[in-house]
Amino acid sequence: MEKEIHQLNKAGTTFRTIIEPFKIKSVEPIRMTFRAEREKILQNAFYNIFSVKARDVIIDLLTDSGTSAMSAEQWSGIMRGDESYAGSQSYERFEKTVKDIFGFKHVIPTHQGRAAERILFSVMCKRGDVIPNNSHFDTTRANVEFQGAVAEDLVIKEGLDPQNQYPFKGNVDAEKLKALIKHVGKDKIPLCMITITNNSGGGQPVSMENIREVKKVLSKYNIPLYFDACRFAENAYLIKLREDGYQDMPVKEIAKEMMAHADGCTMSAKKDGLSNIGGFLCTNDDLLAQRERDLLILTEGFPTYGGMAGRDMEAVAVGLNEVLKEDYLIYRIAETRYLGDHLYETGFPIVQPPGAHAIYIDAKATLPHIPPSQYPGQALVAELYLAGGIRGVEIGSVMFGKVDEKTGKETSAAMELVRLAIPRRVYTQSHIDYVLEACKRVWENREKLKGFKIVKQAKSLRHFTAKFEPF
Ligand SMILES: *Cc1c(COP(=O)(O)O)cnc(C)c1O
Repeated sequence: MEKEIHQLNKAGTTFRTIIEPFKIKSVEPIRMTFRAEREKILQNAFYNIFSVKARDVIIDLLTDSGTSAMSAEQWSGIMRGDESYAGSQSYERFEKTVKDIFGFKHVIPTHQGRAAERILFSVMCKRGDVIPNNSHFDTTRANVEFQGAVAEDLVIKEGLDPQNQYPFKGNVDAEKLKALIKHVGKDKIPLCMITITNNSGGGQPVSMENIREVKKVLSKYNIPLYFDACRFAENAYLIKLREDGYQDMPVKEIAKEMMAHADGCTMSAKKDGLSNIGGFLCTNDDLLAQRERDLLILTEGFPTYGGMAGRDMEAVAVGLNEVLKEDYLIYRIAETRYLGDHLYETGFPIVQPPGAHAIYIDAKATLPHIPPSQYPGQALVAELYLAGGIRGVEIGSVMFGKVDEKTGKETSAAMELVRLAIPRRVYTQSHIDYVLEACKRVWENREKLKGFKIVKQAKSLRHFTAKFEPF
């Protein structure tokens, strides 16, 4: 990763300090709390961080979805929003921007990413089909399975090894893809997805070389390629930093080159749209687009607004251009890398190398004295909140552990991770320094931390509502 750091420095400035490339015009106060207060709050929430109120959190790293700070230009767009039911000017601006960057023929607006997924899979898949992806995001998998199809994860083996420093751990294993097509037959694979960046696989990017390779395999069988494009700008910028031949190419051109290999995409504007809501579905296929619009009218709205207000489409249109500004991306990657590198220096085992939107701490390796059955990730999340009012999220056995309905026995998840996701343009370096100081206290105290047991849980998606008790 030496090359990346060198490139970051070269791209930024001749100064060592990379600054936030914005001034703060509007502020939201943070309510400060003390540890004794937080102990009561967490106890009253039955130690479930999802039950803690946002006003009781000092630094909220629960998610980077829908949590971006909007720019003055975006707020101006909000005022300009044309709320006409049909043919609004806001849609025209939105569609023009999406076509300019993504290059697809049809742009179908939706209220967020999962609505685009639902429409795509409803129209393209049937029972028994198989959808390959590097790693399906949870809503993507759920929407594939809802159609009775099978979601296959084909990420390369490096992508499953947290310590491996391979620069493109989001890549699809092309050999596995070929084998899958041979095994199930091309007629059972209506499309192939690639998630850029690979959120469920630690936010790792996909290389241009891999996109080309996958497209080549698919072309042979006439299988269309779709991107789950939520973090397309972050992926494009990581290509610029890490892949030979892209150092001098503007990031927007890299994004366009990526998209040129695909037949369509789904997008959540809550990520790299720098907006608080919104999304879209794109395709080059006229017939599919017609069927997708018919379904859109049924559940989302008329094709010139989908599930969005005119003002939302304005915010997304502006956000999509701002997210490709290199000053912004330098800051974005540097902020995440700063958090990751300093956590690592403190001693925390993290998923390497740091991606763009989050840092993932390996809780099993941090707290080896707490077995997976006692949820080391949950223990770490709880202590981060107690130590500094910081909200992270467990991505381990609380989220993915499987309980056998008959025996009540639980199978643990493959990894016990804690994700610290970084909202876009929201926190400054001193906020991150504060997080690091709190994490250092947690690290020094780690041997005293205790596991948890679940005392109440729902049948599915239990992590949102489970109640815990410390051991
Ligand atoms: C967030 C996300 C989605 C779903 O988007 P929503 O706007 O939350 O519905 C799909 N795929 C990936 C990779 C995501 O990160």
